Amino acid sequence: TRSPVAAVEVIDVDVTFAGVHALRKVTDTLTAGRTHALIGPNGAGKSTLINAITGIQPVASGAIKVFGTDVTRLHPHAIRRAGVGRTFQNPSLVDDLSVLENVRLGLFSEQQQPLVLDLLRGSLGRRSEAGAVARCEDALRQVGLAPSLWSQRAGGVSLADRKLVDLARALVSQPRVLLLDEPTAGLGEDEMHVVENALLRLRSTGQVSILLIAHHVAFVRRVADSVTVLDAGEVLASGSPDEVTNDSSVLEAFVGT
Ligand code: ADP
Ligand code: MG
Repeated sequence: TRSPVAAVEVIDVDVTFAGVHALRKVTDTLTAGRTHALIGPNGAGKSTLINAITGIQPVASGAIKVFGTDVTRLHPHAIRRAGVGRTFQNPSLVDDLSVLENVRLGLFSEQQQPLVLDLLRGSLGRRSEAGAVARCEDALRQVGLAPSLWSQRAGGVSLADRKLVDLARALVSQPRVLLLDEPTAGLGEDEMHVVENALLRLRSTGQVSILLIAHHVAFVRRVADSVTVLDAGEVLASGSPDEVTNDSSVLEAFVGT
């Protein structure tokens, strides 16, 4: 039996803010082609872990590997080029651009164009060669966003659909690893299914390895192959969704949250 390939390995990572540990000896693995969930109370260090993997948060000690390559001290752009994409806890779409143009922004950051200058010069239109548009359309199709919405103003679509636009924007550069910081934040149960369907569709391709932060346990059980629980910067439990959500120390940590 071959051991599964690790898309991301986090090994004994410490992150400190002014001497206070946000992460303490955190070890975690995202298996290639799988979806792994990170759960835990507010302030547990979940976003900090994603920031550390993407290189925007320097680590005090420990190591981070992406498909076997040590990326611990690499510049965020280099980590992006290594195939790591992400979304943020507070996604910012440009409301006055169309859905498709917003997805296109994901390609601009890939090319490291000075985006603001491009927008000011109005060159977004001039660069709209067929290839780039086709890639954006692919990404929108992958997340299952209705084509009738693609040309609409991003500010005018529903919150759930905005989450899909955000996801498509991260996908358009075809990352091998996708880190999603609370992709369902602010969504009700019904709207959550929109994001859930997109994640299940991505998982079924096996082409992208997904680490996502979420709070809703039922949602996590439906979309994730494995779960790690962070609490106060430390790994409290790790395993299958069943194992983890039935763990008594985990249940205790969530009491009152
Ligand atoms: P979570 O995403 O699990 O809610 P965070 O990773 O955002 O938690 O935060 C973990 C801890 O690190 C919190 O105590 C938070 O206050 C602290 N923290 C996060 N970012 C910073 C920062 N840039 N400067 C100082 N402290 C921070
Ligand atoms: Mg967070």
